[in-house]
Amino acid sequence: MTHQAPRGTRDVLPGEIERWQWAEQQARVVLDRYGFGEIRTPLFEDFELFARTSGESSDVVQKEMYRFQDRKGRDLALRPEGTAPVARAYIEHGMAGESRIHRLWYMGPMFRYGRPQKGRYRQFHHIGGEIIGTAAAAADVEIIALFVDIFVAWGFENLKIAINSVGTPETRRGYAERLRSWLAPVHDRLSADSQNRLLANPLRVLDSKDPADLRLLSELGDMPRLLDCVDSASLAHWDLVLAGLAAVGVDYEIDHGLVRGLDYYTRTAFELHDPSLGPGQSALGGGGRYDGLIASLGGSSTPGVGFSIGFDRVMLVLAERGTAIPSRSDSIYVVSMNATHDAALALVRELRRDFRVLFDLEARSFGAQMKAAGKSGARLAVLLGEDEWERGAVALKDLTDGTQDTVPRIGLKEALRVRFARQGEESRTL
Ligand code: AMP
Repeated sequence: MTHQAPRGTRDVLPGEIERWQWAEQQARVVLDRYGFGEIRTPLFEDFELFARTSGESSDVVQKEMYRFQDRKGRDLALRPEGTAPVARAYIEHGMAGESRIHRLWYMGPMFRYGRPQKGRYRQFHHIGGEIIGTAAAAADVEIIALFVDIFVAWGFENLKIAINSVGTPETRRGYAERLRSWLAPVHDRLSADSQNRLLANPLRVLDSKDPADLRLLSELGDMPRLLDCVDSASLAHWDLVLAGLAAVGVDYEIDHGLVRGLDYYTRTAFELHDPSLGPGQSALGGGGRYDGLIASLGGSSTPGVGFSIGFDRVMLVLAERGTAIPSRSDSIYVVSMNATHDAALALVRELRRDFRVLFDLEARSFGAQMKAAGKSGARLAVLLGEDEWERGAVALKDLTDGTQDTVPRIGLKEALRVRFARQGEESRTL
């Protein structure tokens, strides 16, 4: 029997991985410019960490958790999201004592047992950022600007952030009652999941991914607004956030139905959607404030705000748009003859200290090696002809225009550097 990758997981192969690496690197640069530092947390944690923070009635806890017991019977789960682990690490390492405000980012796989479809996987990837330690509205603004600027670095244009305030847990309870009455007339037509949500936490109905539910909600019209129930301190915060977004030039649209799926959010909630991904999967990312999260995990009361981006969906959108990524043209192919194979092995190792170098492991004929060099995408070929090598020289061939020079073996690295530098200048002036 042959094996396949488990349902809902995928391999990313050479050919596709270059786009992933490029996008990861673009994100790293932006995160670094905003002064964020990377944090890496384990892929699994105590199940309780997620159950307590995401909310017992959330879809993630109810249905989507990869929960397992290890050999000692510990109750563990593959992480479905990154914020609770970051908060756990923040408390565990006493980070509050190091400095008042921490700017942190993470990148890596998350796991949710959902129904796989385009843009929805069981192992998927988040890029996330958190500012922990301040309730200042400027932190919300910085998180949203950073979130947008990562998309800008990926070539997205005309971005509009959907934003709402989810207030405090108390104000949400008042809102839940209003929602219950609003939804009562269509109760029987909602999906079974949403009928359960209506009992446990009516806000989650707004977060339903079921297309029939979504249609029903849009038909109902005049949905009660969370903002009408929000407390005055949260409203003052909301005004500051919107003013800050306007000041930094981030476009937004108030979305009264935006509630986010997890319980720990307070005040600001935001998302970015791309309709090309289809209803239910259109969110490219989102985030919000979570002022109660760290206290709920036993830390001292510490506010925080963060975002996460669904990297797999971003990759889908970029691939569909045919977004070109810069191709690399900094490789060298070393071609040898019978008498210079051994010398070539040593030269390749030496050159690899400074350059990206390919060569033919099978030491095939000169012609076969030249063909392989052409196919490899290398920019330059270093040819070790027998006579030249004996005279202490090699031939340097430009594979893009076919020109060839002889250069002394001793000056080879410098000659390669000059060629690549010249190429860099040319591509900058293009
Ligand atoms: P969430 O914390 O659920 O809002 O997740 C943040 C982002 O991760 C979403 O906006 C999606 O882009 C992405 N995402 C969430 N779940 C999945 C999944 N099962 N497969 C792929 N991407 C996902």
